[in-house]
Amino acid sequence: MPGIGLGDLDDPQARFGSPLASLASPGRRTPVKYLSEFRDPDVARRLLGEIEASVTQRHVIMEVCGGQTHSIIRNGIDLLLPDAVELVHGPGCPVCVTPLDTIDRALAIASRPDVIFCSFGDMLRVPGSDKDLFTVKSEGGDVRVVYSPLDAFTIARNNPDKQVVFFGIGFETTAPANAMAVYQAKKHGVENFSMLVSHVLVPPAIEAILSSPANRVQAFLAAGHVCSVMGYEEYEPLVDRWNVPIVITGFEPADVLDGIRHTVAQLEDGRSEVENAYPRAVRREGNPAARQMLEDVFEVVDRNWRGIGTIPQSGWELSEKYADFDAAVRFTVTDINTQESEICRAGEVLQGTLKPNECEAFGTQCTPRTPLGATMVSSEGACAAYFTYGRFKELVDS
Ligand code: SF4
Repeated sequence: MPGIGLGDLDDPQARFGSPLASLASPGRRTPVKYLSEFRDPDVARRLLGEIEASVTQRHVIMEVCGGQTHSIIRNGIDLLLPDAVELVHGPGCPVCVTPLDTIDRALAIASRPDVIFCSFGDMLRVPGSDKDLFTVKSEGGDVRVVYSPLDAFTIARNNPDKQVVFFGIGFETTAPANAMAVYQAKKHGVENFSMLVSHVLVPPAIEAILSSPANRVQAFLAAGHVCSVMGYEEYEPLVDRWNVPIVITGFEPADVLDGIRHTVAQLEDGRSEVENAYPRAVRREGNPAARQMLEDVFEVVDRNWRGIGTIPQSGWELSEKYADFDAAVRFTVTDINTQESEICRAGEVLQGTLKPNECEAFGTQCTPRTPLGATMVSSEGACAAYFTYGRFKELVDS
């Protein structure tokens, strides 16, 4: 199989035979309209050939983002790679790592008759200690699915006699829109709007994984959408301190394979650098306007990650300037008594030490209809990916 060469791969036009180079140019407003090129089987085969040709030893690579996990499992990328290259799945599923006490707090607030509780759809089926938001809705709670926090802001404006709460979870990717909603509420004096915030940050999670005595991960695929907001300067100290390659990677099959190709090349060469394999969306400095908004609205705090524990300086909450819009302060919830499933091993899944189909409950006691953990219901959860794409252990091993 002919290789396409490192130089060619770094040139989008040469790589895909289409004028994609303009997309990588900062300041150009060319729309992204070449999605199919990044799903081209021939390109994928050539990238796989490059990876196969370069591997001489075993490598363990973690894809941080749940969106990348789904792309990998959906397209069978992990099964196509050489045996020496193992992919393990990381903690980058925001729904999965939202702490149980925050879910229970959300359930208590959503149950109040004076509240309209707004959330993205995949939070509704996440199990709390004894129910989920769907159950609250079926019991009469006004729980609404929205596609943007600004929709919740509009609902607040249109319902001044109600308290409207948005469940603001997620990584750096979703945070700018959440910050904008709070900023708008303050600017326009929409006092019946508030946000229950549980934001988490990628770099401290990578640091926590690397610090664990059980760590096997030698390199990371970093999430392109996070870096499109934050840039990748903050990964550089991690690379220096831990000597691990971090490659910023997109989500389509060719993006993921190209990220793996860059990562394997670094590991084979004994290099550890931050590399941007997603230049059509990511610049080193990220999105300065979004970062400025985040800095204004949020402040960095220690955050408890469901199944993992507290990671220092790994989350955002509303800054003092916007504290009046903090639903956790506005609504007193006192009787939270969290109870995790004793069977669920999502914490191990999220840290890459267990594959979902190695959990004894996978596909038996735990299914998307009867989830024991958030990783089985989130659209970015690794257990959901394995279930959706039929990765039952006996089938994969046979
Ligand atoms: S399969 Fe279910 S029980 Fe097992 S780790 Fe995943 S969510 Fe938890």
